[in-house]
Amino acid sequence: MTEYAMGEHLPDVFDVAVVGGGPAGAAAALAARAAGASVALIDRAGFPRDKACGDGIAAPTVEALVDLGITGAVAGYEPIDTLRLIAPSGCAVARRLSHPAYTIPREVFDARLHEAAVAAGAVPVRHAVRALRRRGGRVELDGALAARTVIGADGAGSVIRRLLGFGPNPDGHVAIAIRGYAPALPGPAEQLIVTSSARWPAYAWAFPIGDGRANVGYGEVLQGRPTSRAHLIERLAALLPTLDHGAVTGLRAHHLPLSTRRPPPGRGPVLLAGDALSLINPFTGEGIFYAVLSGALAGRAAALARAAPDRAVDRYRRALRQRLGRHLAHSRVAAALAQHPRIVDAAITAAARDQRVFGALVALGLGDGRLDGRTLLRIAAGLRAERSTVGS
Ligand SMILES: Cc1cc2nc3c(=O)[nH]c(=O)nc-3n(C[C@H](O)[C@H](O)[C@H](O)COP(=O)(O)OP(=O)(O)OC[C@H]3O[C@@H](n4cnc5c(N)ncnc54)[C@H](O)[C@@H]3O)c2cc1C
Repeated sequence: MTEYAMGEHLPDVFDVAVVGGGPAGAAAALAARAAGASVALIDRAGFPRDKACGDGIAAPTVEALVDLGITGAVAGYEPIDTLRLIAPSGCAVARRLSHPAYTIPREVFDARLHEAAVAAGAVPVRHAVRALRRRGGRVELDGALAARTVIGADGAGSVIRRLLGFGPNPDGHVAIAIRGYAPALPGPAEQLIVTSSARWPAYAWAFPIGDGRANVGYGEVLQGRPTSRAHLIERLAALLPTLDHGAVTGLRAHHLPLSTRRPPPGRGPVLLAGDALSLINPFTGEGIFYAVLSGALAGRAAALARAAPDRAVDRYRRALRQRLGRHLAHSRVAAALAQHPRIVDAAITAAARDQRVFGALVALGLGDGRLDGRTLLRIAAGLRAERSTVGS
């Protein structure tokens, strides 16, 4: 793959410049190319590159990628068909997922997506974008590359978002998590999530990769309390006591801007997608599904608006609302309810009793599901039963 530097043999103006070549950026580039646009795919890193992540790839992500024409994203990795959830109180549910999940190191997964975007005709450019300026119906990046529309898919610390004047997520709407690699835990190959009443909302995970290793980690929502790398590692050890902690390598932490507080989806010809738009699920920390979906919507909107770039953001806003609006509204309500660990205990107990409740919670946490009436009724019944037990 020939990677370009800014200014070198590049066209005068691209239809779409995508800043960030992760899942959101690769999906944006693919969708823009499918709509006939010329695309620059700019990243400060060369691929393959690592990314702090649980590496959990849920079934809806795989489907969204197939919609973009990528069929080999999970090739060679073991499907995992069971999810075990431990509630803050310690009660647990382990059930089959309706469609399997995968654990794929981002070094591999993102490189596959980036490669697919380049194979589709996106021009890879290696550059760290610092400045953006509108001039004569174009957007210039660092004065060296021009495009009719720009997509900021540059992750949780998005420069494009800051340049648009949108601030970072405040405490309560941003999490921090650390991940590492370790020998897989003994027992069946299942995705394990252990929630914690201490520092709630918080949880640790162990996701087996299928090669004898697991991605392990711990994350919590920031609430103004001091936190540190040592604290995150200590919580990981407390919540996963059977883990061989001496054998954990590659520990790396990063912020997760949660979808409960999002900036506008862009301004005029400049759009935001993925983590740059705070699209991370507030329960699970899952963001790859949203990154692929929002990236694809942004790429298509930008490409179709190339003759009238100022309208790109309206087109994108409508598409996002149509595709994710109801789900994000339900997630926000569910996140507010989940502020109370007792409600999460009741939800996990209900999921242990009822496969459909389990399915609904998984879809809400890992896809575009909603809070349905049955789930709410089962949770309410659990809370009533608990209250009457406490009262008797
Ligand atoms: C510890 C942890 C665990 C997680 N676990 C999971 C999980 O198991 N499953 C899941 O679905 N999600 C998980 N997430 C969330 C997930 O990692 C993100 O939602 C996802 O990476 C978002 O993709 P993106 O393309 O928006 O951003 P990124 O993947 O961060 O990609 C952004 C890209 O932009 C580039 N870039 C940044 N700034 C610039 C610049 N100025 N100029 C040029 N390029 C730039 C970067 O090099 C990078 O390649 C986790 C996050 C963390 C921190």
